Amino acid sequence: MKFRSLTGVVLAMGAALISAVPAAADSLPGDADNDGKVNVADIAMIASHIKGIRSLDKDNYAAADVNEDGNIDVTDISMIAAHIKGIKAIGSSDEPVINEPKGPEIVTKDGVTYVDGILIANKSYALPENYGNGNSYTSDNSFGLTPETYAAFCEMQSGAYRDGYSLWVCSGYRSYWYQSDLYWGYVNRDGQSEADTYSARPGHSEHQTGLALDINYADSWFDNTAEARWIAENCADYGFILRYPKGKEDKTGYMYESWHVRYVGKELARKVTDSGLCLEEYLGIDSYYH
Ligand SMILES: [Zn+2]
Repeated sequence: MKFRSLTGVVLAMGAALISAVPAAADSLPGDADNDGKVNVADIAMIASHIKGIRSLDKDNYAAADVNEDGNIDVTDISMIAAHIKGIKAIGSSDEPVINEPKGPEIVTKDGVTYVDGILIANKSYALPENYGNGNSYTSDNSFGLTPETYAAFCEMQSGAYRDGYSLWVCSGYRSYWYQSDLYWGYVNRDGQSEADTYSARPGHSEHQTGLALDINYADSWFDNTAEARWIAENCADYGFILRYPKGKEDKTGYMYESWHVRYVGKELARKVTDSGLCLEEYLGIDSYYH
C-alpha cells in the first residue's frame, strides 16, 4: 500500500476529528498520539478508535484506509469525519463503512468479572477472597480445576502421550490465601516490582479461577523443551490458550510463560490462537494494578 502525506488535509479536518479522540489540552488538534505532529499515524489512531480497535496502535496504518482502496487519501478522511458528524455514508458507497465502536461487555457478578462472558482474573480484575474455596487437590484429586478444565487437560495429556510427550499438572487451583503466601514470599525475595512481573497479587491470580494450570515446570528453562513446543502448537485443539505469550508482556502484565495455559473452550481457543493476540487484546481489556 502507498500512503501520501496528509498533514494539510488533516489539519483542516482536525476540528471535526478532535471531538472523538481524547487528547491533551495543549496538543495540536488532531495530534492523537501527542507527538507534536499531525500525520498519517494520527489518522490511523482515529480510525482504529472508531472501529473499536482498542490498542490504538500507531503503526496500524491500514485501519485508516477506510474504503480499502489501497490508499489513505482525502476520501478516507471525509468518511471518518462524516462518521463522527453522524453522516453515515459519504463518497463512493451508500453503505456505512465504519462500524460503530464496540467495546467489550464487562459484567460483574458476585465480585467476579466476565468480559464478553469470559471469566477474567488479571491485574485489572480481581476475584473475591472466597472464590473457589472448596476446590482442592485433596477433595477431588483434579488439582482443584473445574471439571471441564480437568477433563480437557486429560484429553490433552492423552494427545501429547500419543505424540511421545509426557505432560502433568504442576499447579492447578490456588486459593487466595495460598497465592498471598506465594506472592509475599516472592516480594521478600526479589522486591515488589520484580515479583509483579511473574507473580500475581492475591485475588489477581488466574490460578484462583480453577480454569488455569501450570504444566510440567513453571520455570523459564521449560521454554526450550519439546513439551513446551508441543503445548504451544496443540493446546488450542483441546480448548486451552497460552495465557502469557512472548512479546505480549505489556498487554498481559506478565513475563512469557510457556507452561501456563487457560481453559476457554475449543472454539474460543482456536479464535484467540489464530488471531495472534493475547486474551487481553482479543477482548479489548487491560491488565495493570489500578
Ligand atoms: Zn501459572
